[in-house]
Amino acid sequence: MQSWSRYFIPTLKESPSDAEIPSHKLLIRAGLARKLSGGLYTYMPLGLRVMQKISRICREEMERAGCIELSMPHLHPAELWADGPRWGPVREIMFRADSAGEGKRAPREPEFVLGPTHEEVITPLIKQEITSYRDLPKSFYQIGTKFRNEIRPRFGLMRAREFVMMDAYTFDATDESATASYLAIKGAYEAFFRRLGVQAISVEADTGVMGGSFSHEFMVPAEVGDDDLFYNEESGYAANREKARSALVPAGFAVAPPGAPLEEFPTPGIVTIAGLAAFPGGAPAEAQFKTLIYVGDGKPFAVVLRGCDDLEEAKLGALGFALVRPATPEEIEPVMGAKPGSLGTVKGTIKNPAALAGIFADEAIKLVGNGTTGANQDGVHYRHVSVTRDLEVTRFGDFRRVKAGEPDPLGGRPLQVRRGIEVGHIFKLGTKYSERIDAGYTDDKKERHLFVMGCYGIGISRTLQAVIEQSHDADGIVWPWAVAPFQVLVTLLDPQDAAALEIATKLAAAAEKGGADVLLDDRAERPGVKFKDADLIGIPLRLTVGGRGIKEGIVEMKWRGSPEAIRVPLNESEATVEAVVRARA
Ligand code: ATP
Ligand code: MG
Repeated sequence: MQSWSRYFIPTLKESPSDAEIPSHKLLIRAGLARKLSGGLYTYMPLGLRVMQKISRICREEMERAGCIELSMPHLHPAELWADGPRWGPVREIMFRADSAGEGKRAPREPEFVLGPTHEEVITPLIKQEITSYRDLPKSFYQIGTKFRNEIRPRFGLMRAREFVMMDAYTFDATDESATASYLAIKGAYEAFFRRLGVQAISVEADTGVMGGSFSHEFMVPAEVGDDDLFYNEESGYAANREKARSALVPAGFAVAPPGAPLEEFPTPGIVTIAGLAAFPGGAPAEAQFKTLIYVGDGKPFAVVLRGCDDLEEAKLGALGFALVRPATPEEIEPVMGAKPGSLGTVKGTIKNPAALAGIFADEAIKLVGNGTTGANQDGVHYRHVSVTRDLEVTRFGDFRRVKAGEPDPLGGRPLQVRRGIEVGHIFKLGTKYSERIDAGYTDDKKERHLFVMGCYGIGISRTLQAVIEQSHDADGIVWPWAVAPFQVLVTLLDPQDAAALEIATKLAAAAEKGGADVLLDDRAERPGVKFKDADLIGIPLRLTVGGRGIKEGIVEMKWRGSPEAIRVPLNESEATVEAVVRARA
């Protein structure tokens, strides 16, 4: 049992001006954390208790899934990353930690970096330690601090520069076994979030910088989330925006046969989809082809979409380039022959087609029977463009961003969309990673193979705040039982009243016996202040002792989430409290 008067819970009436979202405000107001600087927070005693509880549940579920705990350094030799596969995309977010003034290396090359994640450390380790199929499969995890120089740290612990992550890595001999390891950890994640008492939806996700064969994100639905999830409850389909597909183009859709002959027409000054839609003799966005030029690993390529669709850049990952970016107008004109605004891929109109690494068309352009597109001459377009007859296409694919209401790819029911906070991510990496450093094992015939890997992360500190975001009301936090810093709060109305103190102490002991962590509010404060603080810090079960209650022979028992208090007769109160707590614990 902790007594509030001796403990340290610095609650605040006002939230700091930089706190924009409810969970960030409550994090500070309830005394769970304090800001040191942008994206850097001290976990105050109450916040630390929650972190420890979340970590403990996470540990239990990872162990249950067969994962083994270890702990790797936070400081990494920079070479480890510079020689690895991700230096390009991740160096921007890595903090450098140079030892001062040695003058041995060029000033721009860091000696050490602070670890943003640990694939680069564990893969060489396991390469060195595991050489035989007999030692596979193996799964490892750790819970520790990660460092990322986020461009825009915000929302408190949600996007911090230093944060706590559970990261796990699996090593298997075969693809089948790697899938089993992946599913075991997916199960551990599901159990973990269920036990915390938060709703987290697993969605298909893009593999991004990690590459690999498939991936799921765990999302806590919340208005303030950074991601969109598309889902249909009935079919069970769920994917994040980057990965979401729809059945907009039905399977086996037959493209309309070509109609009228291709016709060139002048469009002076028209450089946008909307402009062409409003132009006399133009065409609505749905009947336009939009041609975008990107650069993949140094070579330009074209993407063709319907005028009404948006490109989902993450889907360009399917093209296999390591680095992709939009082309500049200066890069576009020499290749296409026109400035952006009059681009198209009608056969024979591209100025230097050999310069293109390909023309990739979104499936949905098949829905356009009779389209309009740029002629690769400034101020000129074509109408009556047929996808099959007129357009140059290297290959079709899914490149567009889906929209809410489109048919879901599993059953054709309308896709719904909502915002979500990414709290966890799992990747099946395959051999992409082990190949880079030739990490493998020998089988029973003494033949060598690469490890089939998976990697996994849960944002422990982000989850802490996501719980608050999902579980609060106008008065404060409403902690789910499993992660509450204390589960029972005994509020003593008058700490000077010796009889009440004795009852309160007994009730606290009974709650502890039932399995709760108990906080006794014995501060010399007015009851109003105590009740306000109690609601703010959100302890699930509050027992109020003193005042009129004692005269009437009762103790008041109140759940944080419910408006009604229950009057428990004094002589039954210890047994009742113990039983109520035991039923929850
Ligand atoms: P995000 O897309 O939010 O930037 P990420 O995809 O870069 O995250 P991962 O590398 O997959 O993150 O890390 C695993 C988990 O760590 C994430 O699911 C998230 O919960 C957490 N996490 C990542 N970055 C941060 C951060 N800056 N602050 C707090 N938690 C983070
Ligand atoms: Mg992620």
